[in-house]
Amino acid sequence: MKLQNYVLGRWIDGEGEGQPLYNAVTGDVISFASTEGLDFEKILQFGRARGTHSLTKMTFSERGRMLRALAMHLMNQKEKFYQVSYMTGATRADSWIDIEGGIGNLFSNASLRRKLPDQIYAMDGENIGLSKGGTFAAQHILVPKEGVAVHINAYNFPVWGMLEKIAVNLLAGVAALVKPATVTSYLTESVVREIINSGILPEGALQLVCGGARDMLNYVHSQDVVTFTGSATTGLMLKSNPNILRENVPFNLEADSLNCIVLGDDVKPDMPEWDIFIKEIRKEMTVKAGQKCTAIRRIFVSEEAFEGVYTGIAKSLSQTAIGNPLNESVRMGSLAGQTQREEVKKQIQKLLTTSEIVYGSENTISLIDADYETGAFMSPLLLKNEKPFESAEPHNVEAFGPVSTVMPYKNFDEAIELAKMGKGSLCSTIVTSDGRIARDFVLGTGNYHGRILILNRECAKESTGHGSPLPMLVHGGPGRAGGGEEMGGLRGLHHYMQRVALQGSPEMLTAVTNVYSPHSKGHITDVHPFRKYFEELRIGDQLVTEKRVVTSEDIDRFADLTGDHFYAHIATTDFSDTMFERQVAHGYFLMSAAAGLFVDNYEKNPVLLNYGIEELRFTKPVYPGDSFYIRFTCKEKKSQEIKEAKQGEELPRGSDIPKGIVKWYVEILDESEEPLIGVATILTMVRKKSL
Ligand code: NAP
Repeated sequence: MKLQNYVLGRWIDGEGEGQPLYNAVTGDVISFASTEGLDFEKILQFGRARGTHSLTKMTFSERGRMLRALAMHLMNQKEKFYQVSYMTGATRADSWIDIEGGIGNLFSNASLRRKLPDQIYAMDGENIGLSKGGTFAAQHILVPKEGVAVHINAYNFPVWGMLEKIAVNLLAGVAALVKPATVTSYLTESVVREIINSGILPEGALQLVCGGARDMLNYVHSQDVVTFTGSATTGLMLKSNPNILRENVPFNLEADSLNCIVLGDDVKPDMPEWDIFIKEIRKEMTVKAGQKCTAIRRIFVSEEAFEGVYTGIAKSLSQTAIGNPLNESVRMGSLAGQTQREEVKKQIQKLLTTSEIVYGSENTISLIDADYETGAFMSPLLLKNEKPFESAEPHNVEAFGPVSTVMPYKNFDEAIELAKMGKGSLCSTIVTSDGRIARDFVLGTGNYHGRILILNRECAKESTGHGSPLPMLVHGGPGRAGGGEEMGGLRGLHHYMQRVALQGSPEMLTAVTNVYSPHSKGHITDVHPFRKYFEELRIGDQLVTEKRVVTSEDIDRFADLTGDHFYAHIATTDFSDTMFERQVAHGYFLMSAAAGLFVDNYEKNPVLLNYGIEELRFTKPVYPGDSFYIRFTCKEKKSQEIKEAKQGEELPRGSDIPKGIVKWYVEILDESEEPLIGVATILTMVRKKSL
């Protein structure tokens, strides 16, 4: 049976017999994969013209809801994927990371819609004033690229590898062409089938090729983005593709990484951190049979702890049941295939030139319900190397399987040096109960890592672990790890959107971005802005209030009411060596009195509640006798979705009211207007007229 490619809006067979794909546990042939005969130029053009074209017409909210629907759909189908995933050698726990971890990325990115505008573009950073007179300003925005995200993935996480990437490009408004590693592409294909069957994505938003990439990269152009996950050698070759270089195609590389874990020299065998350390290593060596880009390859401990640690890890590894992942007692499955096992063995030979085995065997293993000859099983292998500064191999050779090397350091400076000898990693972990050691490690090695986990007894139980990239955190690392970066919540969008610095008059910036730019002219009408429904409010709707004079009694009464008797608010204070001339009004009094000026009093109106204050600044002191007034401007609007109650769930009061969030720009001014006395953005929830 041949795997199909989903391209040009349909499932297509590649020509020829194709590459055989094997069940990693039994060695049986499952199917054949071929991309022969596919026209990659047309495929990329289809993705741009159909998929990206449709996605860029959708707002972030619509794209986010689309991702959520997709995540829910896949979650309902997940058992089908588990059945296929066993064939990759993965246990149920391994598959959970791949399948549900991948779907979790869709959910997480879907939730980001709440932080993004109801628009096709996003704001990036603050409005920047560029002139004294306030007539020239700037704002960065992000607009979706017009290309396709081409994802060339590694074999170890056939589902997560695809979903963590497409979640981001789809949210950004860019279509994807996914090329999973051929050896496990049958699992990716089963998920893509469900995605296509669901009809949730617009046509062309996701295409899949199972098999070789052929001349695909010869047709990418500057609006496309290529992401590559795999070995450094392949990565370098692809990154140097003349077309990629000529067209300046963004290329995100995630490659081999010799991640490390370090045991602080404060940790002794009777401390909880000792066991936490050993447990973390065992987990990283055995989950996915060590085929994780983030897995721990290098273990650094003090000379005193060296023997105790490696005997402890060895004992812990000896308790791991290995074999057919369909057997429930099995805790570690197989590698993805025989070829991968041969590759790992080759790498072990290199490591053994300077290290020796303290646990495991390269060629034998006792298995449950499985055969070493036909399946791709391998024993966990713990090596030790007593001269880490004199041995290049443990810091350079990645055996992409259940293989790790323990090495000693003399003092903590050495531990930092050793960690850096990996020449850049995706992640590392420091296990310590001493904040100073953690700080030394982070500041000493942070520039060599994409992520650092600081593990101790307080967080170990709830920690997500050394090896788990999370959708809200960046994933990637410098140097050997590829120099790439992906995910990271909203940061991920930047990879698929063009950042444009807009310069112009405040009115123009407001008109273009639909967010009020300070110094734009406001629209003052007879109707108080609080009397307008969400749909009726325009950006720039403005209210300029009456003046209020601040008295010493106001300040005294506010101090008594709140209990804030800070010396600057007390009339009798000696102000000779302070920042103030005399008794000064509380900033919070001014903000509260501001509300007293701008709020539409007594009558019920569409404003449902005050939601919070952002970016509140007090910039000029106000003394008794001074007066101030407020300029209150509608700055930004964001529609809210009506929450649907899950079965048996009771939603908070008002959840069924159609509404949106309105941000208001509040300027506290006196006669001189500039500089402002204070500034803030307040958030209100405003009722909609209709759904
Ligand atoms: P690989 O051999 O480099 O392959 C990676 C991907 O590149 C596969 O999809 C492969 O397709 C494709 N590829 C190979 N030659 C190509 C070409 N000429 N043109 C276009 N695509 C080509 O790596 P792997 O063996 O699958 O994965 C293991 C490696 O990945 C390990 O070194 C591991 O550290 C690394 N990895 C890194 C991360 C990370 O996030 N940093 C994550 C996972 C894995 P075919 O399968 O069709 O050859």
